[in-house]
Amino acid sequence: MKVPRPVLQASSLAILCAVFIALADNRLFWSSLFRVIDPLTPSGLVFTLTAFLTLAGMLIVFFLLFSARYLFRPVLMLSLLLASVIGYFGSAYGVIVEGSIVRSFFATDVREAGELMTWRFAVEIMVFGVLPALAVGFVRVSSRGPMRELRQRSIAIGLTICLMLFASLTVYKDLVLIGREHKELRMTMNPLYAVYSAVKYAKKRGWPGAAIATVGGDARRGAVHPGKKRDVVVLVVGETARAREFSLNGYERKTNPLLEYDGVVSFTRAFACGTSTADSLPCMFSFYNRGEYSVSKAANHENVLDVLSRAGVRVLWRDNNAGCKGVCLRVEEEDLSHAQETGYCNSEECFDEVLLDRLEERIEETDGDILIVLHQKGSHGPAYYKRHPSRFSVFAPECSSYSPQNCATNEIVNAYDNTILYTDYLLHRTIGILRKRFATENTMLLYFSDHGESLGENGLYLHGLPYMVAPDEQTHVPFIAWLSDGYTREHGIDRKCLDSHHDRPYSHANLFHSLLGSFDVQTEVYRPERDILAECRTGPRVL
Ligand SMILES: [Zn+2]
Repeated sequence: MKVPRPVLQASSLAILCAVFIALADNRLFWSSLFRVIDPLTPSGLVFTLTAFLTLAGMLIVFFLLFSARYLFRPVLMLSLLLASVIGYFGSAYGVIVEGSIVRSFFATDVREAGELMTWRFAVEIMVFGVLPALAVGFVRVSSRGPMRELRQRSIAIGLTICLMLFASLTVYKDLVLIGREHKELRMTMNPLYAVYSAVKYAKKRGWPGAAIATVGGDARRGAVHPGKKRDVVVLVVGETARAREFSLNGYERKTNPLLEYDGVVSFTRAFACGTSTADSLPCMFSFYNRGEYSVSKAANHENVLDVLSRAGVRVLWRDNNAGCKGVCLRVEEEDLSHAQETGYCNSEECFDEVLLDRLEERIEETDGDILIVLHQKGSHGPAYYKRHPSRFSVFAPECSSYSPQNCATNEIVNAYDNTILYTDYLLHRTIGILRKRFATENTMLLYFSDHGESLGENGLYLHGLPYMVAPDEQTHVPFIAWLSDGYTREHGIDRKCLDSHHDRPYSHANLFHSLLGSFDVQTEVYRPERDILAECRTGPRVL
């Protein structure tokens, strides 16, 4: 006997699946939400309904966008299966599927995954995933001609969006408040957050097939002298530090009490490529100078980290900022911005010292030449006072507000100067680590900030003005070099020559070539006239 297959409209089927997922596979979301609000109070009930509408509504819109004939049911079935798996890990382990999980999914260790496949897993996936997916496969989707279907589904999408908007407006205040206080809630929305994370991951890795033009395809190391120690270069990429706040550059306040005794060269006339991180960061590492550069050009071309890797230099990017803006896509990256266990972090962020956590171990576990990039959070505003541990609140009183324009100018400057003081300490500590490795390595440190900052001069705050009109405060940045004795000797650097170049005009365009030069990488794209060390590389490279 044949069982008759029920017939459903596409929008009804989408609603059914969305409601099922919103209720059955979102147990972690609901339990997290009910810890924050009480659904039995009138306002709590309204909020709960809104949350339900939003969750289901987004799924309905998502499903209907993929409701083309041969796509619709596979998308629904896959979503049901995926949501049941994520729902299981959420409710059983409190696991949130985000960047690192997606990353590890693509580099899965099957043995590890095997341990998670329990009986409970099998039962839950069967009940919440496989059976509903089979049901979707069983029903028939009615069609009344493509034009009518398109119109009807568009109306359904429109109505759903209106309903979601209306619902969120009624609890707008609570939504903003709870949304801000409990960011983790959004991460437990299943499977939306996982899809979002996967898309973010894919974008970060570059879509498969996106071509990246080779730069310096001929890169190779210069002749290696027998007995030469390996080179370890640390590049600290500063954040929002401006040149004039450095006492090394003549600032009247002692903001560099430690670096002043470290024997560094401070290049006093260095300028940034852009006035924001997103603009400057890719530019610093790209082959192009400011006139030729664009963000998309940089994204489509290899940068100096790729060229160094090709020549056999290991590259490690350690980040305490909001990522490397695509610069470190093809090299090893360590995100330390939430490394709670290091003791340098609070619930929101980490102090820059986290970048030095296990730095020596990182150096020791490698052999051969290595470039380590430390990407600071530096002086990132507007809450400057949050960027340094309290013992660095030397200049007082500090502006302790997210809106610096509400503070007196001297309070803003105090808070900002304390961040420079902390950067001084960070660089000094880094140099300390590199200095004592003289027996095994030739070490060097470079520090270059990504852009500057306005602290109320001419009524301007923060940064990001178009370069043409940006004041010096936003473009004139600190650029510092420290070379160990071993590095100077084995690379034949005339130290006096380098010191005498401290007031030469430099810019981010010098970084690409200086990094290549510092590892003696030879390639047709290397321009010695832009390498800050080239002119001072006088003597023959001695043993
Ligand atoms: Zn920046």
